[in-house]
Formats: sequence, C-alpha cells, structure tokens
Amino acid sequence: MVIGLKYRYSGLKSERIESKMIVSDLKVGILGGGQLGKMLCTAAADWHLELSVLDASEDFPAAPYCHRFVKGDFRDENDVMNFAKDLDVITIEIEGVNIKALHRLKEMGKTVVPDPDFLDIVRDKGRQNEFYRRHDIPIPAFLSFDSADELRQHISEGRLDFPFVWKSRFEGYDGRGVKMISNATDMDDLPGGPCLSEQLVDIDKELALIISRNARGQKAIYDPVEMVFDSRANLLDHLEFPAAIDSAISNRMKQLAKKIVDAVDFKGLLAIEFFLTKDGELLVNEVAPRPHNSGHHTIECCTTSQYEQLLRTLLNLPPGDTSSDSCGIMFNLLGSPGKKGPAKAEGLDKLFSTPGAHLHWYGKKDTKPFRKMGHVLLAGQDVKILRERLKELRKNLKITA
Ligand code: ADP
Repeated sequence: MVIGLKYRYSGLKSERIESKMIVSDLKVGILGGGQLGKMLCTAAADWHLELSVLDASEDFPAAPYCHRFVKGDFRDENDVMNFAKDLDVITIEIEGVNIKALHRLKEMGKTVVPDPDFLDIVRDKGRQNEFYRRHDIPIPAFLSFDSADELRQHISEGRLDFPFVWKSRFEGYDGRGVKMISNATDMDDLPGGPCLSEQLVDIDKELALIISRNARGQKAIYDPVEMVFDSRANLLDHLEFPAAIDSAISNRMKQLAKKIVDAVDFKGLLAIEFFLTKDGELLVNEVAPRPHNSGHHTIECCTTSQYEQLLRTLLNLPPGDTSSDSCGIMFNLLGSPGKKGPAKAEGLDKLFSTPGAHLHWYGKKDTKPFRKMGHVLLAGQDVKILRERLKELRKNLKITA
C-alpha cells in the first residue's frame, strides 16, 4: 500500500524505498514460479529482498529460491487476491494470469507491474496490433476475426488471399497458436476461437531487445539480440548477442521501443520482438511485459541482468547499466523427442570443460519432448568461436529420461 503511494509521488519518496529495502520489509510477489521467476528470485537474493511466488506446485523452478511459496492458480481471481493481499508490489513472469485481480489490487493502491491495462492489450494479439497501428508502430498487415468461421467466410468472399499467417489471438506462445496457411486444406484443423490473419513476412532476421522504464519515466535499453530459428521445428535454435546488424537498424529498434513504452506510460520490463524483412524494413512482431528468453544472456554478458533491471523498476530505483563487454550465444536445453519421465542430462562433462559456458538448469523433475529444461549461455569475445563451441556442445548434450 505504502509503495503504491511512493509510486505516484515517485522521486520524492525514493529514500523511503531504499530504507525499506535495507531492512527487507518490502514484500514483492511474482505470479508464476517457472524459470523466469527463479532467476528473478536469485537476483533478489543479492539485495535480500523478500519475494513470494504463486504457482501450482512446489516442484516448480522458483519454489526453492523464494521466501514464501504459495500453492495456487495464478489464473484464479481468489487465489491471486489471497496471495497478494499483504504484498506491496506484484509482478508477473507469465502473461496468462488473472488480470481482473490485478485491476483490483491496483485499485487497492498496490504497485502492479506491468499495469493491468497494458496486460489487457497485450494478451489479445488483435488489440496488441491495433495498439501498434494507432501509435504508428510498423507491423505486418493484419485482419482480426472473432472466430475461425469468420476468417473462412472472409476467404470465401474473396477478401483474403493465400498465403497468410494464422494466429490465435489468445494464449499463443513458443510458436503454438501460429500456423502458416498456404491453401484451404491447411485450415482444416484450425481451432475455432478468435484469431488474426497476418501478412506472410519475408523475414531476413528475427531480432529482439529489452527496454525498462520506471515510474519516474527513466528508461534503459539493452542492445538487440538475433533469434536464430530452426525452420524445420519452428523452434528457437539459438540466440546471438549482440545481433549482427547495422547500427542504423539497432538505433531504429531502440527508437521504436522508446515510442512504445512512452505511449502507455509503461512501467516494468518489456521485451520486443521484431522482424527485419529482406527489404530492410523493421516490423514489430509482439511484446512481452516481463523477463524474457531473449534476455537470458544479460546475466553473464551485461553489467545489469534483466532480472535486476526489473527489480529496479518495481522499486522505482534508477535503471542499471545495460552495457556489455562480451558477446554471447544462448541455447535452450530441450527434452529430447520420444523421451518422457524423470530427466537426465548427458554430456555435462563437455559443457563444464568449455570455456565461457554457463549452465542454467531449471530443476524440473520430468522431461518431455521439447520441454525447456534449462539453457546454456556461452560468453566470449568472438562470436565465430562461440558458434564453433555451440556446434561441438550440441553433439554431446542431451536431455533424456
Ligand atoms: P509466439 O508468441 O507463439 O512465439 P510469434 O508471433 O512470435 O508467436 O510467431 C512464432 C514464429 O512464427 C515467429 O518467430 C516467426 O518465425 C513466425 N511468424 C510469426 N508471424 C509471422 C509473419 N507475419 N510472417 C512470417 N513469419 C511469421
């Protein structure tokens, strides 16, 4: 409650935040206890900040690293209200939370980051795209539909041509909820719910960056990363930092990022995914108002990690230095196809004898095909050497059951 006030009178009362921090009586809660929550908890440990976590199982990655783990459903209004009633600041590590509860907590004067009004926009890809259009942010051409039947009708009336990209408006992540549609047969098994059709972009590179903004309006931006996709599996293969792009493109990305956060008086951490087209045009794909995979490298490669940066915005502290003096490659450790059950890792010896290799094991007990079990960050001075190391490691590393 007190912190909510501090937020509004930001700047004037920041010394009270500092004193609360030092005696650790600031109560911060995270909705979601996955790997992003875990990394937020380990960053908070540096300041001995009390973090509470709400999620379904004590087996989840963040549980052993928080001060208080509450078992419950972050999609449920009552569970969120009970969890947060004694907290000062509430944030998220996943978008699919109960937003109605967040609105109520905000009305009670608590600090809710990101703002629930922004979450309402982001969680519906249709509203998200309309938001970009309204603010003159370049995006792929799109149409929004309330159902797949409405989309089909549009096609039969000749108002939409193949090919296009179908996207579920709600709850799509990691490529689920996205499908390339080249002909009518591709549409046979589409879910019936609200969706988008998007222009199929001729992508040269997929890029991302992270920006933070606190309640004083202070912003800090990390240099962009490139997300390299495995086109067969439509999954992220690895991520390279910094992205090998012209400074003009990087500057344009940063300019667009600032425009987005200023447009909504954003507070918190925002990851923004972009397409760079073969014609050199930059288009925003989507945003995530929380710590993000595309910022894993900030732990090893940047002065301030994305997790500490989020904590700084939660407490309305000045942003940390985002500079870096190394490059990095990040790749996910995914459960091997066909393997299900208690997880085992093979090839760790090779990993631990690779210079600059850092293992992040999320502690999920069971593996299943393509489940994110951990990630590896390779840090160094020469990206070409890191690419070689990635290739070598891949030969040995496997997550099996
Ligand atoms: P998710 O939120 O599930 O990750 P995205 O919107 O990021 O979904 O889409 C997943 C992937 O699909 C992208 O990384 C990109 O490779 C491809 N994709 C998405 N939209 C388009 C588009 N309009 N044109 C071409 N490819 C696209």
